[in-house]
Amino acid sequence: MCKTVEHRGFRCDIGGHRFFTKNKEIQESWEQTLGTEFLTRSRLSRIYYRARFFYYPLRIGNALLGLGPWESLNILSSYLTSHLFPVRPEVTFEDWVSNRFGKVLFSIFFKTYTEKVWGIPCTTLSADWAAQRIRNLSLGRALLNAVGLRNGGQVTSLIDSFRYPRLGPGQMYEAMADQITARGGEVRLGQQVVEIHHEQNLVKALISVAGDGGHIVPCSHCFSSMPITELVQKMRPRAPENVMAAAASLRYRSIITVNLLFRQATILPDNWIYLHSPEVRAGRLQLYTNWSRDMAPKEDSSSLGFEYFCTEGDDLWRASDAELIRLATSDLAHLGFYSERDIEDAFVVRYAKAYPVYEDGYLEHVAVLRDWLAQFSNLYCIGRYGQFRYNNMDHSIMTGMLAVRRMIGLPVDPWSVNAEGEYLEAK
Ligand SMILES: Cc1cc2nc3c(=O)[nH]c(=O)nc-3n(C[C@H](O)[C@H](O)[C@H](O)COP(=O)(O)OP(=O)(O)OC[C@H]3O[C@@H](n4cnc5c(N)ncnc54)[C@H](O)[C@@H]3O)c2cc1C
Repeated sequence: MCKTVEHRGFRCDIGGHRFFTKNKEIQESWEQTLGTEFLTRSRLSRIYYRARFFYYPLRIGNALLGLGPWESLNILSSYLTSHLFPVRPEVTFEDWVSNRFGKVLFSIFFKTYTEKVWGIPCTTLSADWAAQRIRNLSLGRALLNAVGLRNGGQVTSLIDSFRYPRLGPGQMYEAMADQITARGGEVRLGQQVVEIHHEQNLVKALISVAGDGGHIVPCSHCFSSMPITELVQKMRPRAPENVMAAAASLRYRSIITVNLLFRQATILPDNWIYLHSPEVRAGRLQLYTNWSRDMAPKEDSSSLGFEYFCTEGDDLWRASDAELIRLATSDLAHLGFYSERDIEDAFVVRYAKAYPVYEDGYLEHVAVLRDWLAQFSNLYCIGRYGQFRYNNMDHSIMTGMLAVRRMIGLPVDPWSVNAEGEYLEAK
């Protein structure tokens, strides 16, 4: 997922990948891999709502000024009400956010975007996800920050700079793959694992298919970063009914990026913009040349990546490239940032299973899968979908590192990574 797709010299990520970690080992490995090609970038991300920009993470003065005195009073009184009479227990995303920001601010700055991303009402999305995404923040804290009464240390959502490869995130992982090859390893791309054969609590072989036909790959250890739901479905002999049912209950959201390419430099300063306005279908806009100038071929060229969140099989997922480009062009016309006439070209990138959906009850389903898979002593679930966890790149990498350490006998557990739900990168 943290690859870079290239089209006529224009580059795009699947979602805009900031490199940020608190883990020294991973930081050093990123730095050693790319050296001076690993840029340091400052972050600017804003929310676009009612034809105005608001800083995100929210700066309370900016938000209240932008919304005007009546709306601001409304926000403050709804915050006080929520503070005095919080929803208990906090089960849903809406409960969690409203308790900390009040119902009015919730509906302005959280509801629309969140529902675009997840495709379900905030009343059915689990509070866990809010706790990860906007950890430590509340309107009260933001107000204290604004008047200088609290610093609070580093609040996760306020990270204001990050690292980024000059040619996009794919540059990092392509360089790592080259290192593996240079040391005699083999990286086989384009192989689809269709079956995983096990016997006496050990994974014995994978069956994969590629352009050149099917292959049997015997294995002594198996590290799986494919979606955990698919892993379970591909096990032979098959998993029991209750395990298959738990796998079928877990859902993912997918992402489509429609890149509109322009023959002019970008006129907006942001890295990305959240599109809260309900009249546009896109949820977020990426401005890749503000991540790195070299994401477009020439000084006077740029791109806008319109991100659409969807579910495999729904109307957006089934739409043709031409239909999606028309949709992004019409969203652009609503936003008015650029003229349609300046669009030079466009390309579409689809990525299935981009977000594990934290719906009510998902943890119980994941537990059923984990319990059943735990019997296979040479099988390690790693990565984001491999663990059905909202892992960032550093978490995903760490799960792989711990799995290898476990393989060589160290007492570590790949499932311990990000178990506390720390979300280092606010999106
Ligand atoms: C929109 C978006 C934005 C993000 N932004 C950031 C960010 O700013 N910073 C950050 O640190 N992280 C970010 N992340 C998270 C980051 O992308 C992930 O943590 C990371 O890419 C996960 O790596 P992975 O190897 O676990 O999964 P993946 O990169 O998805 O790798 C899984 C691989 O398994 C393959 N696969 C699946 N099924 C099979 C099969 N049957 N046979 C063979 N192969 C199979 C897939 O093709 C894929 O290559 C973002 C994620 C998204 C969705």
